Amino acid sequence: MLDTPLRTIALATKGFMPEVEGDALYTAAHLACAAMPGLPIVEVGSYCGRSTVWLGAVARATGTVVYAVDHHGGSEENQAGWEWHDPEIVDTNGRINTLPFFRSTMQRADLTSVVRECVGDSQVIGTAWNEPLAFCFVDGGHARDVARADYAVWARHVAVGGSLAIHDVFEQSADGGQAPFEEIYLPAVQSGDFIEISQCGSLRVLQRIATYLK
Ligand code: SAH
Ligand code: MG
Repeated sequence: MLDTPLRTIALATKGFMPEVEGDALYTAAHLACAAMPGLPIVEVGSYCGRSTVWLGAVARATGTVVYAVDHHGGSEENQAGWEWHDPEIVDTNGRINTLPFFRSTMQRADLTSVVRECVGDSQVIGTAWNEPLAFCFVDGGHARDVARADYAVWARHVAVGGSLAIHDVFEQSADGGQAPFEEIYLPAVQSGDFIEISQCGSLRVLQRIATYLK
């Protein structure tokens, strides 16, 4: 479990991770990292570092690291005029920049030694990636093409026995956008490589059981 000081920091951080789902993320990541010693965690979509606090605590507890992948320019739905826009994260050039918020969260949480900033486009970073992962948490852009690209580049890096966790999975369109469900969750299950092992709210955790994906 996340200790009280870290929990206070996580809950005070801007972001989109409900507390119960953060706790479920912690449990799932801990299980995967304890089973796969030495293999790291990737988080796709860190924003201001809210979910990263839970994952950073897992990395510290299990002796690994989190690569926190984000270009920090915000998703489509974070831009001005969209539903999830926050004017406080706009910099002096008028652009969204969550990197200073992310850094300050990691510093306050004292997690800078186990959380590596990977600032850039998720598709570019995932394409160049070559290290197997104990745990991959995908919570990046929810535009269809971005979600599809995240699945294509990241799912294959999850080690057999490791887990792929997906946020904002809504089976019914009335409950939320369909991209994480249709472009990540369904293709992962249908690939034959993954089986669902837990769910909490919109968080789905899949374990990799085969290597059809190359
Ligand atoms: N996990 C966070 C929320 C992430 S919001 C929390 O717990 O609060 C989604 C993030 O994905 C945004 O910060 C956005 O900048 C990032 N993102 C969207 N598309 C991206 C892309 N193509 N490459 C890298 N990051 C991207
Ligand atoms: Mg999310």
